[in-house]
Amino acid sequence: MDITDASGYPGSAEQVFSPENEEQVVEILKRASSENVPITVMGALTGVTGGGAPNGGWGLSLAKLRRLDIERGRAIVGPGTLLREVQSGAAASGQFYAPDPTENTSSIGGNIATNASGSRSFRYGATREHVLALRVALLDGRVIEVRRGQPVNFEVPSLPLPRTTKHSAGYRLAPAMDYVDLFIGNEGTLGVVTQAELQLLPAPGEILGGVVFFASQEAALDAVDRWRATPGLRMLEYLDGKSLNMMDVAHRAALMIEIEGDADLDMAGTLENDSWFATSGADRERFRQFRHSLPERVNARIRRSGFMKLSTDYAVPIEKNREILGIYQAKLQRAVGDNFVIFGHIGDAHLHINTFSDSPEQFAAAKAVTTELARDAVSLGGTVGAEHGLGKRKAHLLEIQYLPAEIEAMRAVKRRFDPDWILGQGTLFPCYNTSSL
Ligand SMILES: Cc1cc2nc3c(=O)[nH]c(=O)nc-3n(C[C@H](O)[C@H](O)[C@H](O)COP(=O)(O)OP(=O)(O)OC[C@H]3O[C@@H](n4cnc5c(N)ncnc54)[C@H](O)[C@@H]3O)c2cc1C
Repeated sequence: MDITDASGYPGSAEQVFSPENEEQVVEILKRASSENVPITVMGALTGVTGGGAPNGGWGLSLAKLRRLDIERGRAIVGPGTLLREVQSGAAASGQFYAPDPTENTSSIGGNIATNASGSRSFRYGATREHVLALRVALLDGRVIEVRRGQPVNFEVPSLPLPRTTKHSAGYRLAPAMDYVDLFIGNEGTLGVVTQAELQLLPAPGEILGGVVFFASQEAALDAVDRWRATPGLRMLEYLDGKSLNMMDVAHRAALMIEIEGDADLDMAGTLENDSWFATSGADRERFRQFRHSLPERVNARIRRSGFMKLSTDYAVPIEKNREILGIYQAKLQRAVGDNFVIFGHIGDAHLHINTFSDSPEQFAAAKAVTTELARDAVSLGGTVGAEHGLGKRKAHLLEIQYLPAEIEAMRAVKRRFDPDWILGQGTLFPCYNTSSL
């Protein structure tokens, strides 16, 4: 059967299993292992890199593992539980689950496996910072429970990290690292998360949300620099003029903000009278939907064109924010004309590019320039994957980030958990020819 995720990756599986409990997950993994059948873990399939779409073999859907126990300071969660269920469960108890990777129909298992982050990571960090413990089913039939502070029990080398606030490309490896950190961001290639203990924080008080418009990109970038240090600022998102155009708004640039508590933002250079501000949860939800409608519109336009989605997830060190935006715009304009939008998490120097193609030639040009921009981001100290993982669609970018010996160190860890290389085949380490995707 055909299976895809939000990236449109053309996956398929001979059979999909939907276990109802951890014991069944273990049995399926043991069977896949003994029969040497490739098996791919599927969350809610909102991923944008093809990680959850099987390359043949079996699919393992975690959708029925939906435990959700809210306690003071923590939640015990099944991997198939949706992000929005955790968020609303926490809110109903007067608490707060901080990660908010925009697509709240994603599953917690998928969020952990991709180290998802989103807009609030500006203040609260990525999913990694909010995982207290994990239960993980392995291919050899064991289930291990790992807690924060518990180091890995085998040797791993130290791999360099980019100088960014977010990173989700390849395994995080460092001697005596937390075991939990190995499984966060592993994209379903080392084991299956069957349960997570997540940190809940006290709910913040009043929150001011806003969509602030600007007459120019420069004015918006000046505001980013001025506002970045504002106490309580938890979201700082950018929409370029082309993005706004797609959302039927006629301004040149916008910043979306959320601030916890009182704050006095310097509104110099903003189109204050045209901007939208709100303190009610309902209005903030309207703003969230406004922001969320952009990737949806982008995806719809790409689907209509019949070409695969070509988008980026690169981030750079904060001080390189303007430099990389200038590089993006100059090179994209040369390669694809006006057929691109730039938006996203500017507070973390993490902007997404999406390109649009109407012909194979345009698609080839867009693919070449987005790969070239990955090299530019890395040369500035950045990452080729800040929050989506690399999956299958972007597995080729791993070698832009890491040296061959560093990738070999990751492969050695992979072989330790999956000697026959059957879990998440094609994800992170391309073993199929995906160069045309
Ligand atoms: C409109 C839109 C907006 C988005 N915005 C953001 C954003 O702001 N920030 C962000 O980070 N992401 C964003 N995403 C991407 C996506 O929502 C995230 O990557 C999310 O974490 C994927 O979760 P999922 O449950 O859909 O996982 P899937 O797509 O099903 O799988 C993703 C990966 O996780 C693995 N996996 C899933 N469950 C498990 C498990 N239990 N154990 C081991 N491995 C597992 C899969 O094998 C796969 O490699 C967006 C997506 C869309 C469609």
